[in-house]
Amino acid sequence: MGDILVIGSGLAGLTAARVLTQAGRRVRVLEAGQEVGGRVQSRTVDGFTLDAGYQVLFPAYPALRRHADLDALDLVTVPPAGVVRRGRRADVLGDPLRDPASLPSTLSTRALGLGDKLRVARLAARLRVPPPHALLAGPDETTEDYLRRQGFSDRALDHFFRPFFGGIFLQRDLSASARLFRYYFRMLMDGGAALPRAGIGALTRQLAQGLEVTAGVRVTRLTAHGSHVTAATSAGDLDARQVIVATDAQSAQALTGEPVSRGRLGSSYLYYAAPRPLDPQPRLLLNAEAGLINNAQWTSRLIPERAPAGQELLTVTVLHESLPGLPDLDDASLDARVRVELSQWYGEGVRELRTLHTEHIGFAQFPQPPEYAATLPGHATALPGVLLASEVTSMSSVQGAMESGEKAAAILLGDLAGMSRPRGA
Ligand SMILES: Cc1cc2nc3c(=O)[nH]c(=O)nc-3n(C[C@H](O)[C@H](O)[C@H](O)COP(=O)(O)OP(=O)(O)OC[C@H]3O[C@@H](n4cnc5c(N)ncnc54)[C@H](O)[C@@H]3O)c2cc1C
Repeated sequence: MGDILVIGSGLAGLTAARVLTQAGRRVRVLEAGQEVGGRVQSRTVDGFTLDAGYQVLFPAYPALRRHADLDALDLVTVPPAGVVRRGRRADVLGDPLRDPASLPSTLSTRALGLGDKLRVARLAARLRVPPPHALLAGPDETTEDYLRRQGFSDRALDHFFRPFFGGIFLQRDLSASARLFRYYFRMLMDGGAALPRAGIGALTRQLAQGLEVTAGVRVTRLTAHGSHVTAATSAGDLDARQVIVATDAQSAQALTGEPVSRGRLGSSYLYYAAPRPLDPQPRLLLNAEAGLINNAQWTSRLIPERAPAGQELLTVTVLHESLPGLPDLDDASLDARVRVELSQWYGEGVRELRTLHTEHIGFAQFPQPPEYAATLPGHATALPGVLLASEVTSMSSVQGAMESGEKAAAILLGDLAGMSRPRGA
């Protein structure tokens, strides 16, 4: 009989397995997909490295710093703030403190007025003071209500906060919890945002090193016997003394019977190859106008290794909230509509783009409205010997998934210090 079975090889499962292995326990990880990494994966298409969805790492995430070797990931810093696109108009919206090169264009930009720039500075000064995890406590409201109470204008909301935080919350309407907004704002202040040079999947590949992970095996049922747990899998039954369910929330609900699912937010990504950059900017491009595109990036301007020599890679993010009919929209029609929007930025140059791949992620994050944290599930389940490790116990983020895996492992090991670490710390 195995010692500990971890179900799911996303960030939560891999972190749990690492902590347990480091504590000397024998751990086996089963993964339903063909690849390790869950939502954090990259693939190669025609020599281009494509991340499964555009996501960035916040190197200041405490759990990431505890468990990943960030130096080995060769992180490339994403320039702060971005470029606000309104048709042909492109205003650089840099952070002069972190990115002095952006100073001239930031001061002259009409994307944000002087009052809003001062409000950003005031917000930063206020959020810099408490320990980051304390920002996850206190009164809650929507991010939009919070920003309006700080005095931000419609222009600031539409030109910057909606597209920028829309790319983080996968909701452009700023309906997510203001506590989370404050926490992410602080993470950005403390460490910026970065991408591993070899692709976001380098993170989960690194975490999986030295672990016994079997991909392509789905767990279909768990039966607790008191002394052990039997996992029915697509490769036959398996017994383990203890089980950690580190799947997405929907699967965790099916396996444990616990009502942990919190709904889903989805997004789609279009990847284009080009013989030359249509934009010299390595910065994030934020769409300030209504449309399908929320944000985009000439990924190869930031990380040349992501494209073959002499070619460029453009990654475009479409949030499913802006495209309710997406499940019925075929890839070619979506591509055609995105190209129409890109032609408002780049004119005839869009003809040079070659569509490489379209990625639809039906469940990318769960919605996190104000007070969502009040109803978070814990790690215990009604099945003896079965613990839950999933972002759904914390927040829908790299930090949330990793700290959840860490905490489930701490509970199993009886590690009091690990168990009592606050959310976000
Ligand atoms: C497009 C996108 C953008 C994002 N942007 C950000 C961002 O900018 N910043 C940030 O912090 N976070 C971001 N996130 C969120 C972050 O990636 C997730 O919170 C995190 O990866 C979740 O990890 P997890 O281990 O909880 O779940 P998952 O990664 O979903 O892993 C669960 C695993 O369990 C496996 N599994 C499911 N059922 C079974 C079964 N029955 N048997 C065996 N295996 C099973 C699945 O195949 C999967 O590999 C983003 C996510 C996406 C998709």
